[in-house]
Amino acid sequence: MIPKETIDLIFETARIDEVVGDFVHLKKRGVNLLGNCPFHDEKTPSFTVSPAKGIYKCFGCGKGGNAVNFVMDHEHFSYPEALKYLANKYNIFIEETVRTPEQEEAANDRESMFIVSNIANEYFQDQLFNSDEGRAVGLSYFKERGFREDVLKKFLLGYSPEKSDAFSTHALKEGYKLEFLEKTGLTIPKGSRNYDRFHGRVMFPIRSLSGRVLGFGGRILKSNVKGCKIPQLSRKRNLSQK
Ligand SMILES: [Zn+2]
Repeated sequence: MIPKETIDLIFETARIDEVVGDFVHLKKRGVNLLGNCPFHDEKTPSFTVSPAKGIYKCFGCGKGGNAVNFVMDHEHFSYPEALKYLANKYNIFIEETVRTPEQEEAANDRESMFIVSNIANEYFQDQLFNSDEGRAVGLSYFKERGFREDVLKKFLLGYSPEKSDAFSTHALKEGYKLEFLEKTGLTIPKGSRNYDRFHGRVMFPIRSLSGRVLGFGGRILKSNVKGCKIPQLSRKRNLSQK
């Protein structure tokens, strides 16, 4: 837990223009600053930052709030994570009181889920570039659509093999726990088998700006089956956090 005085200090110190400015290119417009909204797609800037009021507001999608809200929304941070991020940015020392075992467990769970998402991402990329199936199916799919290899690598795109438990088997063999594979939504246990939520698909990681893999979107390559998207990790996190 972060002491209240420290929270107050973080709120007083954090300057909205600096916090947003780390992620959005802002231009001066009168007393305010203006930029392209990071929360929706736009060509004409409608994202306004008011240093005087300490808030941001988008007139396109309606998102708005203070510096803490911004990093929570933008980086998918929880409230304490957002405070820590800002404290770190402004060199404010946080003397944390001890976490309860439940809080400790929730934090560890979340970290484990991030780790699992990351190794999944590495596995899918490896399959796309280094397996016969990945190259024949996934890579040729991307190439037909004009994606260059450097672009695929930049955006960490990957391929999940046709075999219905390829990833889950790989992850379990590497020592990752079924509990977290299931919590991230990547593995669906059924009886004694563990099935991959995604198989025979090209994979698109959903990332925060700081680069953390939050979840995946998968595009199925056969026309007779419906594709699906797993819930983002951040959403699950909010549920488990309360
Ligand atoms: Zn917007």
